[in-house]
Amino acid sequence: MKKLTPVRVRDLSHLDKLAENDKLHLTSYPELSRQKELVVQAYKDYDNNCGNPWLITSPIICEKLKAGLLSHYSYPPGSIDYFEKITNSSPDVCPMCGGFKPFTRDHLLPKADYQAWSIFSKNLVPACDCNLKRGSALKGDEATQARVLHPYYDQFLSDRLLSCKITPRNNFKFFDLKLIFISPEHPEIASIKFHTHNIVIKSGIEKWLKGQLVKLKIKPSNVIQTLPKRKQVTKVDVIEALEDCLERYDEQTGTCNNWNSILCHGLLNSEGMLSWLVEKHNNNIV
Ligand SMILES: [Zn+2]
Repeated sequence: MKKLTPVRVRDLSHLDKLAENDKLHLTSYPELSRQKELVVQAYKDYDNNCGNPWLITSPIICEKLKAGLLSHYSYPPGSIDYFEKITNSSPDVCPMCGGFKPFTRDHLLPKADYQAWSIFSKNLVPACDCNLKRGSALKGDEATQARVLHPYYDQFLSDRLLSCKITPRNNFKFFDLKLIFISPEHPEIASIKFHTHNIVIKSGIEKWLKGQLVKLKIKPSNVIQTLPKRKQVTKVDVIEALEDCLERYDEQTGTCNNWNSILCHGLLNSEGMLSWLVEKHNNNIV
């Protein structure tokens, strides 16, 4: 999860070019030129309502235009040159799930149901395969108006929203792990929870965190790279190393809600983990 600055795209000028292109007669021509104003209004509606699916209304455009816009996403005409720029606009972290290396794009409002925004740049965000795992999840409870968070509009994505609680069992042989919310009273907590369950957890964060705990058990300095490889440490040293690590991951990725930071924050705040790390690390040195 990440607050991301959108790539600058002149969406209306792209619409104009498509509307005038009579070579697109198998897809959007001449329907787009006839119904362009409806699409322009839909773009404005999206922007004015910050991409919130509870507030946006789909325009009444004809089926051929819907199919045409969808096809322009799958097979972009020459005038559309911004898709790759969007994919590459967050190289280190997936703004949707906080995992690594987004290699594709996600339609915030799924294109199967919201065709009018198939090629709208603000509806396209870089994403990893959480895109597929999310499916069509978009809206939760009507009572709470829960929804998927939007990397371009939800400013609070810049805050630390997630951590994890690690509970050791059988004398640190096994660990129970739970993703937790930093501010349970957050005004947008219903949406933060909805997004976490439908995107972050489905993307596999819990399995990844458990894998990191297995690596920590073998050699903590392989995971916490700020720990001195050949020196004994105290609890204060481990806290310092974890805090440094946390700060680096926050800065490198531009978000506190990347998976590495969630792990570091959880280790710093889960009971018993710091003393266990001191013991594991020092046993490796001897
Ligand atoms: Zn992702």
